[in-house]
Amino acid sequence: MKYLNQIEDLSHDITAMIELIGSFGKDPAGGVTRFLYSTEWRQAQQRLKQAMSEAGLETRFDAIGNLFGTLRGSSTASSDTILSGSHIDTVGNGGYYDGLYGVVGAFLAVKYLKERYGTPRRNLEVVSFAEEEGSRFPYAFWGSKNLVGTARTDQVENICDAEGIQFVDAMRESGFDFRDPSEPGRKDLKAFVEIHIEQGSVLETEHKTVGVVTSIVGQRRLSVKLTGQTNHAGTTPMGYRKDTAFAASHMIYEIISDAKASGDPLVATVGKIEVRPNMVNVVPGYAEFSVDIRHTDKILFDAFTNRITQKLHDLAAYHGVDITIERWMDEDPVQMSDQVIAAIETSCKNLGLDYKVMHSGAGHDSQILAPFVPTAMVFVPSRGGISHSPAEYTEPMYLAAGVKVLVETLYNMAYQE
Ligand SMILES: [Zn+2]
Repeated sequence: MKYLNQIEDLSHDITAMIELIGSFGKDPAGGVTRFLYSTEWRQAQQRLKQAMSEAGLETRFDAIGNLFGTLRGSSTASSDTILSGSHIDTVGNGGYYDGLYGVVGAFLAVKYLKERYGTPRRNLEVVSFAEEEGSRFPYAFWGSKNLVGTARTDQVENICDAEGIQFVDAMRESGFDFRDPSEPGRKDLKAFVEIHIEQGSVLETEHKTVGVVTSIVGQRRLSVKLTGQTNHAGTTPMGYRKDTAFAASHMIYEIISDAKASGDPLVATVGKIEVRPNMVNVVPGYAEFSVDIRHTDKILFDAFTNRITQKLHDLAAYHGVDITIERWMDEDPVQMSDQVIAAIETSCKNLGLDYKVMHSGAGHDSQILAPFVPTAMVFVPSRGGISHSPAEYTEPMYLAAGVKVLVETLYNMAYQE
């Protein structure tokens, strides 16, 4: 698509709009906080709606606050919709690009296509999902789960934020409410394409301009709790101890060693450890640590989890401590659509971009849509791999490259036969 090369100010447009919408929730000390149903969140969604309207898109909010901007298709295929977008919410004191880049990118891509080619055959739709991060309330993917109809009222009815504000009250205060459960799910969605910053350092390290995402890792989180015997550090001989710090460190060593031996793309992390009573002269009788495991292949994912679970029980017996393992998060890996992956790869080739086929180690709205709608993602490099931080940054040339891939892909999906 030759005209793309003429859009010299594409990167300028992206940067300007990220700055504009990013001003809602901007922290004077750097970074941005835009929590679901906050004033800043509402202002950002309203400003986006205004921009979409000015560009000639039909705009609407759904019941819970997902924002849509539609460019109607013309032909008999106009009951088919190609959707693109991401989420508008952020983590606390997060970066400008996570989520917002995908919303702004989808909007600018559809705007350019409309200006250049007019009415598409199929509908082109931009979505700014209400929520993805689970930062304000202990519930993630509220936006996309409502789109596909898997969000349930009872899951949020009794949750509140750090200030004790009920989810339901915050939602209604913002002017939104639960969706009518009798309303059927969307049947018109033929594809979903999400562009997003990588939030890792693979693309930067390998000097690639874009990533084509083929799967999103499954995530499992465990809490391991060990009970031994609290005792005097001076009067208890080594042979008499039930030391949970020793048991925990032995277990952690085994988990990480196994993960290293298993190799990519498996990752396992013990990021939180606590011993009690946590005093220099006491043998700790209680220890607790977290395990976060991620993998793209469900069979290998399960095999690793089962293997370390068995090891932890064996080690607990060896150390004479009691063990409980709670699995409080369990999301399966999600494969992206071969057809949408191929469309994105073709776009990269047509644009002469150096791309990498890769998986995502972080969760995204795409994993919620993928079981229902053919879905794939485009990544752009994150400087230093940093995300969820005010230091999050992507070079404007990469931001533009990602949007160009999206323009080309949406053109092929919505304007071609
Ligand atoms: Zn995100």
